[in-house]
Amino acid sequence: MYAVLSDVHSNLEALKSVQHDISKREITSIYVAGDTVGYGPEPDECLEILRQKGRKMIAGNHDFGAAGVEDPEKFNEYAKIAIQWTKEKMLRDNIKFLGLLPLKIVDNTEDITLVHSTPFEPEAWHYLYDLPDAEINFLNFSTRLCFVGHTHRPFIFEKTEQGNMIAHEKSVDIRSGNRYIINAGSVGQPRDHDARSSYAIVDEKHIEIVRVQYDIETTQYKMAKAGLPIQLINRLSLGM
Ligand code: ZN
Repeated sequence: MYAVLSDVHSNLEALKSVQHDISKREITSIYVAGDTVGYGPEPDECLEILRQKGRKMIAGNHDFGAAGVEDPEKFNEYAKIAIQWTKEKMLRDNIKFLGLLPLKIVDNTEDITLVHSTPFEPEAWHYLYDLPDAEINFLNFSTRLCFVGHTHRPFIFEKTEQGNMIAHEKSVDIRSGNRYIINAGSVGQPRDHDARSSYAIVDEKHIEIVRVQYDIETTQYKMAKAGLPIQLINRLSLGM
């Protein structure tokens, strides 16, 4: 069984709760679908936990923003402030690590593709929200499963062997011949009106979105102390 984490966004309290939940399961590997940093108060701490051996990690737009690969002007006002803060705060070695992350991983052993935005033009940071968005993206990867992040909203989209498209909210039994695009949701800044951390667990037969409570107030306190924008602090308790 493996886990997929995305959009941790420097939220160490959230990451610690997810790690604890993972430790109670028989999970042998962890994939990270990008945006490990940005928005939150502890970028180095989160990256150092996730860059350990065995973690397969790709870049998100905020990771590349902090590393100077993406132009910060492309981000909205508050995201830009947080990226600037992250850039100044992080250790040089960690910044360099972020800048060298790949945009996409294809793992043929597990039969999965990992990309932060969309398998179609991952470098353009498109958003994948619904089944019509998913349809074109199914044509742009060749593995059975594809994991995305970026929207901070979990979903499981299934394409049957006959070409029918089905949306699932929380879990699905994997059927042979069918293919799946999964958004694991966000560990550190969920936006589906559920403030709990979100991540995905997968075995040969089953895909499931897991939600975990974490200490939101402590993250908010650390953000306030760091001088990060109040809008980014408040949204965490609303899950949006
Ligand atoms: Zn993100």
